[in-house]
Amino acid sequence: MADTYDLLVIGAGPGGYVAAIRAAQSGLRVACVEKRKQLGGTCLNIGCIPSKALLDSSYWYVQAQQELARHGVHIPAVTLDLATLLARKDRIVHELTQGIAFLFRKYGVDSYHGAARLNGGHQVLIQQPDGSTLMLQGRHILLATGSVPVELPFLPFDGQVVVSSTEALHFTTVPRHLLIIGAGYIGLELGSVWRRLGAEVTVLEVMPRLLPHADSEIAGELHKQLTRQGLQFHFQTRVVEAEADEQGVTLVTTSPDGSRRSFRGDRVLVAVGRKPYTEGLGLETVGLRLDPESGRLPVDAHYRTAVPHILAIGDLIAGPMLAHKASAEGVVVAEQLTGMKPQVNYSAIPSVIYTHPEVASVGATEQELQQRGIKYRVGRFPFSANGRAKALGDTTGWVKVLAEENTDRLLGVHIIGPQASELIAECATLMEFHASAEDVARCIHPHPSLSEALAEAARMAWAGKPLHS
Ligand code: FAD
Ligand code: NAD
Repeated sequence: MADTYDLLVIGAGPGGYVAAIRAAQSGLRVACVEKRKQLGGTCLNIGCIPSKALLDSSYWYVQAQQELARHGVHIPAVTLDLATLLARKDRIVHELTQGIAFLFRKYGVDSYHGAARLNGGHQVLIQQPDGSTLMLQGRHILLATGSVPVELPFLPFDGQVVVSSTEALHFTTVPRHLLIIGAGYIGLELGSVWRRLGAEVTVLEVMPRLLPHADSEIAGELHKQLTRQGLQFHFQTRVVEAEADEQGVTLVTTSPDGSRRSFRGDRVLVAVGRKPYTEGLGLETVGLRLDPESGRLPVDAHYRTAVPHILAIGDLIAGPMLAHKASAEGVVVAEQLTGMKPQVNYSAIPSVIYTHPEVASVGATEQELQQRGIKYRVGRFPFSANGRAKALGDTTGWVKVLAEENTDRLLGVHIIGPQASELIAECATLMEFHASAEDVARCIHPHPSLSEALAEAARMAWAGKPLHS
């Protein structure tokens, strides 16, 4: 007789592991099956955390080389020890994944290592690393199997020369010339890392600009700043052919005017998006399939698939492929099973690109508001007029606040500049509580702090003028 759980979670990424912990905290009997050796999913093992560790290390490398002298701190010879840099990243990942194992023990989540496959009805078959199988049953089964990188049909990943983000997180030598296909999150973050560590970096993007869905002014500024840092961009450039050998790769591109170009690099990072991962999951055994148009698994407002006791969250379903979105859904799905009625507010999900300067936003962009015919006011405040940014020596960028013309309600905040990733958290909270621009302007922000730039931008959106600009 198979062991039966109230909730059987497949996938221990930020969606699945959070759902498992929350359900166990609420008294449900919970198991989580993960096929990777370490818990934490893409985010902890090959995503958010290792990429941020590399971004931080490479940031300090550039600071030591180029910026500290402006503070009167002179370092005679700055050298790169890539092995130590990578080992530090691996240690951070290890510690955090161990932390999840600890939390599973603490809250009584049964953790199974193996590849899970739906087996019809309420059954899940686990293929364990030693080759043996195990059958479990879930009153509810939660699919949180995440996503994998999209491969270009004419440029298959080989893990050496043609790589996805996974391999680009641990190149053991700095590439001489790294070609990157796609100027999205991964292209810009990992492009920044390897550029800072000394690679020539060329980014090829099919759209007319980087970050096609971001605020266009901010995307323009980020383009300018990254170009200053030495990244080279080619927009409206579609890679159509490729030839890879052991020494490198040649990419042939076309532009809208029909011209062709070729680019040669020693490695190419393909960063053209991610797609849901359901290989071997056995969706067909329960009559489920991905939506042919979006490629995602359809769910209703309670995260129920077409089979009501099978639920799904995270990168597998619609919405931005972000860790905090997956976790928010994990919490909600677990709490719904215990009779609570929470919801995810999809209009207040922040997003951050951890380049330097950082770009962070929440809510609608101006372009979206114009498309929807919503009248709005704009408040903008530059970090060059902010005391804390001056003290930090990091004054690039601004905060832009969008407020509804008639009601003054906050519709969106878009930031490019220092610690934008931290500043946007306050904005997400304000949006959640339906704050007005006046509310934000009147909240007392510490001085001197970067957050004063937010209050000033909000003041401009509400009253027409900031105080310090
Ligand atoms: P995942 O994290 O992908 O976890 C799914 C898990 O399910 C995996 O561990 C997988 O092994 C397991 N699994 C799959 N199938 C089975 C099976 N049949 N049986 C057992 N286990 C299975 N997001 C952010 O918000 N901020 C960032 O800074 C950020 N940086 C990123 C950087 C990179 C390089 C990448 C690639 C992604 C980044 N993301 C970031 C996106 C983020 O990692 C994902 O949105 C998030 O991990 C999705 O969570 P999830 O739980 O849906 O799936
Ligand atoms: P992305 O969707 O962010 O960007 C892909 C880019 O590739 C787009 O600009 C797109 O126009 C371009 N593109 C698509 N096909 C192309 C082609 N054939 N030739 C040239 N350009 C092409 O995808 P990503 O950078 O691969 O990242 C995947 C996802 O992972 C992100 O969407 C995000 O959800 C998540 N992620 C988040 C973070 C973060 O939160 N900081 C960091 C990394 C990844």
